[in-house]
Amino acid sequence: MKWQGRRGSSNVRSSTGGGKMIGGSIGGIIIAGILWLVFGVNPMTALQTGQVVAGGGSNSTSSEPATDDDRDTRFVKVVLADTEEVWHQIFNEAGSTYKEPSLILFNGQVNSACGSASAATGPFYCPGDQTVYLDTSFFVEMRQNLGIAGDQQGSGTQENQGKAGDFAQAYVIAHEVGHHVQTLLGISQQVNEARRQVTQAQSNKLSVLQELQADCFAGVWAQRNQERVQFLEAGDIDEAINAAGQIGDDRLAQASGRVVAPDNFTHGTSQQRVEWFTRGLESGNVQSCDTFSGAL
Ligand SMILES: [Zn+2]
Repeated sequence: MKWQGRRGSSNVRSSTGGGKMIGGSIGGIIIAGILWLVFGVNPMTALQTGQVVAGGGSNSTSSEPATDDDRDTRFVKVVLADTEEVWHQIFNEAGSTYKEPSLILFNGQVNSACGSASAATGPFYCPGDQTVYLDTSFFVEMRQNLGIAGDQQGSGTQENQGKAGDFAQAYVIAHEVGHHVQTLLGISQQVNEARRQVTQAQSNKLSVLQELQADCFAGVWAQRNQERVQFLEAGDIDEAINAAGQIGDDRLAQASGRVVAPDNFTHGTSQQRVEWFTRGLESGNVQSCDTFSGAL
């Protein structure tokens, strides 16, 4: 997937108090403390002059992880901006106005209007604050799921490893933005209303249909973005379809405090997810994403 050199969204933020910040400062204090014990260097002096802390003859390595994170952040900003461009277009064509969601990158734990979430939650959208939440370990996990980072083939650089999972990651972000679109269109509210009035089995079915529509919306986005900037490369669609089969929204249900019922909830949806994503992708039309008609 091609993404370099395009606009990045200004709606992406990082949540404070992440593990990296804490790790960095405590690490620095420990090193400074050791210098003080061994050489009699005042720890405060050592902290103020980073050179001393990072010294010992080798180049400073303390900023390496941040470089990798920055690449992921830049990627997320470009993908979110791509969704903004496309959904503004689609809403404008319908004589309406698109309201952009926020996206929060978090590390470890985060508080949302839908409750607190941890790294185990997975990516999710919270309608209460119209925000997509993305744990930074999500990128690592996706690369592993796609068999990229784990293989350690030859001298693959980090940049190459990142490239292979790009579109699958973009697809997941587009799916969460799909939930935002459902919220703007009032679909989510109608589904929630309907779910209160039906049996548990029917309620689960409505949830699945809502998920499939978000997949279809992700497909519509991919098609429209392809028309706009020709960003797809060979293998990208297979990548997304692979991801669609692997990412279950049972984790999403956990995040929003709903009871997870795997048999009823996820059974058979892997193939359905691929079907609906493909439908959106081939049509590039939101109207092809009516997963609900004749549902119950
Ligand atoms: Zn979803």
